[in-house]
Amino acid sequence: MEYVVPAPPSATLPVLGSALRFPVHRIYCVGRNYEDHAREMGDSGREPPFFFLKPADSALAAGADGSVDMPYPSLTSDLQHEVELVVAIGRGGRDIAVAQALQHVYGYAVGLDMTRRDLQAQMKKNSRPWCIGKAFEHAAPTGSITAATALAAPDALDAAAITLEVNGTMRQQSTTAHMIWSVAETIAQLSCAWTLQAGDLIFTGTPAGVAAVQRGDTMHARIAGLADLRVRVL
Ligand code: MN
Repeated sequence: MEYVVPAPPSATLPVLGSALRFPVHRIYCVGRNYEDHAREMGDSGREPPFFFLKPADSALAAGADGSVDMPYPSLTSDLQHEVELVVAIGRGGRDIAVAQALQHVYGYAVGLDMTRRDLQAQMKKNSRPWCIGKAFEHAAPTGSITAATALAAPDALDAAAITLEVNGTMRQQSTTAHMIWSVAETIAQLSCAWTLQAGDLIFTGTPAGVAAVQRGDTMHARIAGLADLRVRVL
């Protein structure tokens, strides 16, 4: 195939223990999927999940050592971290049943749903779309994917410690057991609204403790059982 302009490169992520890469098709994100974070954002608590997207090329892949640099984005003075469990879809589908949902998962990673909170807040206040707050270059730093078949204890991800430290200070600390909607429920609900495809990523929401980072800060995102992610803000 020849193109009238140069074809854009595909975004890809590393896979732990493999030289092969995971190609990113879409990035879906779940809003307010931990009750403590929902409350800190002004919700009363348990509400149905809602979704937004980031462009595939906002995926910022960690290197082999699990670290990557993120340029500080434009237009904001309140860049915030949200540590999240990321689900990598290996087999697509629509109207997927909860009981079958995990069969569509290729693997899991740690990710950061980076947010220009000041811009998001302005848009929310005016009932306008959030895109400018969530969907920008490098907005989705993501660690190496661990294949589901390579997990030492697959059930452990149902209640895995999830933490985010900035310059060695704990900012977010919870467990995935506090997710309002499970991975399987999220896949099922998403697949009613969009046809999922191999290559899709799902950021499954963040616990409380979201806060700003500055140039020079290093974020260390961890989920027990998965590869760590370190992101330095430039
Ligand atoms: Mn988020």
